[in-house]
Amino acid sequence: MISLNSIHKSYAMGSNSLHVLKGINLEIEQGEFVSIMGSSGSGKSTLLNILGILDNYDEGSYHLNGTLIKNMSEKQAAKLRNELLGFVFQSFNLISFKNAMENVALPLYYQGVSRKKRNIIALEYLDKMGLLEWANHLPSEMSGGQKQRVAIARSLISKPKIIFADEPTGALDSVTSIEVMEILKEINKEGITLIIVTHEHDIAAMTHKIIRVE
Ligand code: ADP
Ligand code: MG
Repeated sequence: MISLNSIHKSYAMGSNSLHVLKGINLEIEQGEFVSIMGSSGSGKSTLLNILGILDNYDEGSYHLNGTLIKNMSEKQAAKLRNELLGFVFQSFNLISFKNAMENVALPLYYQGVSRKKRNIIALEYLDKMGLLEWANHLPSEMSGGQKQRVAIARSLISKPKIIFADEPTGALDSVTSIEVMEILKEINKEGITLIIVTHEHDIAAMTHKIIRVE
């Protein structure tokens, strides 16, 4: 499903450049539940952004579902992301002036689904997350764990094959973190490939494979 071959990535830093990824090789099969660990600044988010087609790489090759991901236009990248990928972030990235239902429904808005239809589907996903009663609440009225469940529902609504989560429990207390991980585990059981970045060992231990970035 994911195949990286000798990936290199540098960031321009004025007249210098910072060489962050130095020849990464990686294979992830469909249905895997993988964590990426490594110290702060080691390049975990850089790697995840490349995997999620949110950023380019300089050298090597990245195949996603058999397609070479290289020098894609933003339009091509957006199409693949919409069809295949879901994202969950440490800081939830919910829209503050939209309620939980509208936040979950947002990916369907970009797919041109009518408001009525997308809101009905969003409610189904909120229900799956145990949040039906919170549908009309704004993010500011919800706890961190609830906000992350809204974000997970939003990532699921476009039926992705892979979900990328960058420190999904980074802003949560340890009990809530385990709850969120249990939800991710259930999602993985339904066949969705899950790739999460974490620096917490107990979180990584809940995944099936740990990849260390150095
Ligand atoms: P991690 O997620 O493992 O903490 P990152 O992938 O965010 O690490 O960053 C790796 C290195 O690249 C860090 O030194 C960081 O400062 C640098 N970096 C990340 N993004 C950029 C950017 N857009 N421009 C310049 N440097 C960056
Ligand atoms: Mg990071």
